[in-house]
Amino acid sequence: MTMPRICKAVLGKKHGNFHPAKPREEFLRTMDQAQAYVLPSQVRRIFAPATAFTTRIAEIGSSDDDTWSERLIRTKEKADGALLHGTDTAVAIFNGDCPIICLKQEDFAVILHAGYRCLIRSDANEEGIIEAAMRHFDPLRAEALVFGGIGPCCWIPEPDKTEIWNPQLSRHPTILESCLSETKYGGNRTVDLYKLANDLLCHAGIYQTRITLEAQCTCCAKEGDAFKFWSHTRHENEGQTGEDGRNCSLIWLAP
Ligand SMILES: [Zn+2]
Repeated sequence: MTMPRICKAVLGKKHGNFHPAKPREEFLRTMDQAQAYVLPSQVRRIFAPATAFTTRIAEIGSSDDDTWSERLIRTKEKADGALLHGTDTAVAIFNGDCPIICLKQEDFAVILHAGYRCLIRSDANEEGIIEAAMRHFDPLRAEALVFGGIGPCCWIPEPDKTEIWNPQLSRHPTILESCLSETKYGGNRTVDLYKLANDLLCHAGIYQTRITLEAQCTCCAKEGDAFKFWSHTRHENEGQTGEDGRNCSLIWLAP
C-alpha cells in the first residue's frame, strides 16, 4: 500500500485577506477562490480550527464542528491544531506571522499553529502544543515540516513573555536559551521560532533528518517589489496603517 504524501500551501497577499473577522460572506468568497486556486478536486472541504493560542487539537466530525459553509468547517471551541485523515479534507490555519507545523505519520497528519505561546506556555508546568500533538504520533515514525512564519530577522516579542529575558522560568530553559537571537533592527531580543519548533520536535523524539524547515519570513519575504505575505508584525511596525491581514496555511494529503 502506498502512503499518501503531504502537500502544503501558504496563500498570502495576492490571494486575499484570510482574516476570519472579515464579514463572513466576503471571507467565504476569498476561501472559495483560494480553494479553487490551490486544492486538487478530491479535496472538497477545509477544516480550520478557531485559533486562540491554546494547545487543543481538534478533529472534524464531532459536536464541536462549526459549519460555515459546505466547504468550510471551523470549531466552536478554540483549538490550535487539527488532525487530518483521508484525502478529501484539507486543514488550515489563518496565521499572520506564527509558524505552522505539520506532523505526518503514514496516512494521517496534524496541522499546528506554532505561535510562540502555543510552543512555550507562560506556566512552565503546562505542556506546549508539540507535546500535546505527539500523543497522536510515534516519534520514530513521524516526520515534520515547519513553514509559513516570521523569522528572527523581524519578530519582536511582547515584553509580557518574561521567560524570553529569563529562560530559566520556562519549561525548556536550555532549548529556549539556544534560540535567542537579535532582530535585524538591532538590539531587540528575539526568538528564532523556526529553530524553537525544530528543537522542540527533536526533544519530542523526532529524528532531525525527518524535520524540514522552510524558513521564509512572513514579515520581510518579497515577490518582486511587493511583500509576499500578510504580517501582523509589519502591520504594527507600519503604525497599524492598512489592513491587518492573515495568510491561509493549508495542508492536505495527496493519494
Ligand atoms: Zn524577516
